[in-house]
Amino acid sequence: MLARWACDPRHSRGRRHPEAPAFDRTDHQRDRDRIVHCTAFRRLVYKTQVFINHEGDLFRTRLTHSLEVAQLSRSVARRLQLSEDLVEAIALAHDLGHTPFGHAGQDALQQCMQDHGGFEHNLQSLRVVDTLEQRYPGFDGLNLCFETREGILKHCSRKNAQRLEAIEPGGVGRRFLDGGQPSLEAQIVNLADAMAYSAHDIDDGLRSGLLTIEMLDEVPLFLRLRRAVQQDHPDLAGRAGRREVFEVLRRMLSQQVHDLVQTTEAVLTAADPDDVDALRALPPLAKFSAAMAEDTALLGRFLFKALYRHPQVEGSTWRARQVVAELYAAYLAEPTEMPADFADCADGPRAVADYIAGMTDRFALREHQRLTGRSIFGTHS
Ligand code: MG
Repeated sequence: MLARWACDPRHSRGRRHPEAPAFDRTDHQRDRDRIVHCTAFRRLVYKTQVFINHEGDLFRTRLTHSLEVAQLSRSVARRLQLSEDLVEAIALAHDLGHTPFGHAGQDALQQCMQDHGGFEHNLQSLRVVDTLEQRYPGFDGLNLCFETREGILKHCSRKNAQRLEAIEPGGVGRRFLDGGQPSLEAQIVNLADAMAYSAHDIDDGLRSGLLTIEMLDEVPLFLRLRRAVQQDHPDLAGRAGRREVFEVLRRMLSQQVHDLVQTTEAVLTAADPDDVDALRALPPLAKFSAAMAEDTALLGRFLFKALYRHPQVEGSTWRARQVVAELYAAYLAEPTEMPADFADCADGPRAVADYIAGMTDRFALREHQRLTGRSIFGTHS
């Protein structure tokens, strides 16, 4: 029961290496299964989203974040009659290219690679599924469908889009040159990504003590929902525990999902695209109402200021950047410190970036200590 603008797995633009269809699964299900079984997916469990992994076991990692994005994406996709399996595949793969230590690692690697073609985490996620995973006898990568790869490549610089276009004419780089949009499934995952991290970063921020409820009351959406929860559950007031926060976050996500579905339905009805290709030529159709977009933007700005720029997070950020920059310099000077696959690669800087990007936080810390003799975070031996 797919809408006519949905990605129908029977009409995929196909895989780069042609394969016979599976007898028991659609191409979207098959992509999702390939992603779940790949090595980069398992590494997400030890990669930081915001907090350094060793600071506590209950904080989100990139793996739990990806699962939350998949859950929200599926809920929205089902209600809009889109391909649930495709949104799940895109969501589970969307962060595969992330370096250790969250954005700190990405920024550091970007700086190291600035004269060697740069480093973009979205492009790196595509590189993981197109090239770096080595599991199949006939090809490198996972050989995913065009639609999954299109969704994974959320952003791409013009220069990199031109490079992709040269290798794969009319492929996933094209829309960044022509100004087109990806499928509605991909648009939904992008919004679900932001919904997921805003909600879980509130939870993790409170759990860590870096945020307080009083600080969050600055955020109109949070305050409004908290007042409503208190009205519905006066017994929660003053009781120890975090149920009030969970209830606020639960309502926040439900309202966002509902708003996104309703607004997008109305936009789709007005635009009435014939099929997914017609939809790709239109402006983005997946959106929140103006009021919810404003609420969500205010929440995002609050988190940026209060949490992502918190001195304690910044302190970890600074040290994480140092680990990545020093690892990069060490491997570039002595490539044989890397496994043979990487050491033998003709493009030295790219091989070093690929190797570091694939590391978990704790592996990066161990390697850093092994190569420099110093323990920057002090708790990882
Ligand atoms: Mg994400």
